[in-house]
Amino acid sequence: MDAALDYLRNTFGYSDFRLQQQDITQTLIDGGDAVVLMPTGGGKSLCYQIPSLVRSGTGIIISPLIALMHDQVSALQQLGINAAYLNSSLDAQAANKTEQDLINGRLDMLYVAPERLTTSRFLNLLRQSTISLFAIDEAHCVSQWGHDFRPDYIQLSLLHEQFPDIPRIALTATADEKTRVEIKHRLALDNANEYISSFDRPNICYRISESQSNARTALLRFIQNEHELDAGIVYCLSRKKVDTIAQWLTDKGLTALPYHAGLSNQVKQDNQQRFLNEDAIIIVATIAFGMGIDKPDVRFVAHLNLPKSMEAYYQETGRAGRDGQPANAWMSYGLQDVITLKQMMATSSAEEKYKRVENLKLETMLGFTEIISCRRQALLKYFDEELKEPCGNCDNCLNPAETWDASVAAQKALSCVYRTGQRFGVNYLIDVLTEKNNERVIQFGHNQLSVFGIGKEYDAKQWRSIFRQLISRNFLAVDVEGHGSLHLTETCRAVLKGKQSLLLRKDSKAVKSSRRGRKLYNTENDSLNLLWESLRNCRKKIADENDVPPFVIFHDATLVEMMERQPANDEQFLRLSGVGEKKLEKYAKAFLNVIQQHSHSQKQGTTDTVADSLALFRDGLDVTAIANQRKLKSSTVYTHLANCIEQGELKLNEVVDLNEHDINTIHETLLSVDDGSGKLKAVYDALDGMFEYHTIQCVRAALLPG
Ligand code: ADP
Ligand code: ZN
Repeated sequence: MDAALDYLRNTFGYSDFRLQQQDITQTLIDGGDAVVLMPTGGGKSLCYQIPSLVRSGTGIIISPLIALMHDQVSALQQLGINAAYLNSSLDAQAANKTEQDLINGRLDMLYVAPERLTTSRFLNLLRQSTISLFAIDEAHCVSQWGHDFRPDYIQLSLLHEQFPDIPRIALTATADEKTRVEIKHRLALDNANEYISSFDRPNICYRISESQSNARTALLRFIQNEHELDAGIVYCLSRKKVDTIAQWLTDKGLTALPYHAGLSNQVKQDNQQRFLNEDAIIIVATIAFGMGIDKPDVRFVAHLNLPKSMEAYYQETGRAGRDGQPANAWMSYGLQDVITLKQMMATSSAEEKYKRVENLKLETMLGFTEIISCRRQALLKYFDEELKEPCGNCDNCLNPAETWDASVAAQKALSCVYRTGQRFGVNYLIDVLTEKNNERVIQFGHNQLSVFGIGKEYDAKQWRSIFRQLISRNFLAVDVEGHGSLHLTETCRAVLKGKQSLLLRKDSKAVKSSRRGRKLYNTENDSLNLLWESLRNCRKKIADENDVPPFVIFHDATLVEMMERQPANDEQFLRLSGVGEKKLEKYAKAFLNVIQQHSHSQKQGTTDTVADSLALFRDGLDVTAIANQRKLKSSTVYTHLANCIEQGELKLNEVVDLNEHDINTIHETLLSVDDGSGKLKAVYDALDGMFEYHTIQCVRAALLPG
């Protein structure tokens, strides 16, 4: 084990193995086989990379994802490891050289695509070489039931037949029992040790909010407040919506690129490449995007529509935070989503049996959005895993949802559906409940009904929330024809008759952000913000010079540690997680320089940077343009401008566009809520998110005595 630890520390720069990594590594080093189920971001790669290094010979890694091979190999080369890949992207000459290197024992690891591995030519090469182990990545591709089935994987059992003495490891992040059994069976791994990890992703904060019509504004605010400069994925149901949202976010000054099956291959490839290689790119996509994307620093995944099952939700949100750093899974959905999905299910031409399963899955997903207990507990329970305590890192744990006794309201809603003949949609029903004497209501004579106006105590918005929950919980069903009309279900009887009481969730106005676990670092500290941005710029520059994505140079986790510890010399730099000997040698100097400059300007208290922003502002650039040019966050630029307002160098109305009334509202709230701690969150919340942080910040600056 000493050799393994030695590689872990000196080559990879990590201090300890994670939970099962050590056992798995040991099993392979001793020549045994392993089947590993570990969630995304769990640390599967080290499980075969370290044994490949410790054992003599070359480790052969079979991976179906050509795009990933390149990044993985670059990352290993950065660590000074002799890694290479063989796939269809190489020309004959390059492939030849790699093959020679393999035979001559010059490679530590070789990544190959399954279709190449199973050719007789390649098997011949293997027989002439010394092989340390076979790693079969994404092993669920062997399963014919899964959506990633690859016929070539079936043939991989030949490894066992032809190379019985070489240890094998199969790895996947797909959790279910059926797939696991199939992997063992088809790959002839019946006697392998099994390692099954928890599928919890503790660094992901799950947040789901109800939206009326302003989901995209909520999304924009979420990104601006919590994820400026971060990479993220926004999922939408339709291509059209993808295009609209991408354009809209772009108009708001973000870099948002569309991705869906209707775009040309070239555009898709370009957008994906930019997502991998640049900082702060947002991909707006249908679910077509994501398979085979192995970007570790996706800081948020946002859903603007409901996923169709819990499996889909887990998989899609799972693309956030693969590096183990805080990430957000954010979702906004509304009544219309529920209706659309129910209709899609009802009208689908699929087989009855299949439809029933799909429907059940959707029901479970809907139920999940409406629960008021811990989301993580519910999510894991769905995958048969028990989490003992509420997690403390989901919206329901952080801002417990309130419930109310909706028995009477539900009775009213259900009888309204019944009395009007079970053939109207939500909007009409709400008109009747709230006593709208409009033409249609009069035409049908529904103003004569006993239910007319019995629901005036709630407004239309509240009724929509009630209807949504009644549909989600299956007390009401949507028609098959697609007009959105509602009818009663069997289950609603007890509620309708007043025999069952019903608690519903009070919809909060917005998903409030969590305090724990959502951010990589504290954004309210301006000077740390600057350091963060400088470190990222330094990383990007080096990445460009090396023609690799930034995360291949250092993961966010390492950058965050750099901020926290601010190493001053090589020795301290080496102690950072993710810094081994090679990276120390190559990059320490550049990063230490950045840190040194930062602490230098801290000591001097220089405000040059404020002056720079001011100068550009006076030149007529707006905040987004200044931020882009200076590679700063716009929030940082606003802080600079607020500073100038405070010093009397700028007037409030030069920076923000507010009328007298708005200014007064903010003033009053500032005076009554601001606790002087410099944190604006309380004020922002008290104003119900009506104004942006930076607006409040500037108004406050104008209030302060200059
Ligand atoms: P997976 O393949 O399971 O999705 P990776 O192998 O890509 O996960 O690892 C996820 C992240 O965790 C990477 O950033 C990796 O560098 C980091 N990591 C893995 N093992 C360790 C460890 N023992 N200590 C610190 N970081 C680790
Ligand atoms: Zn929770």
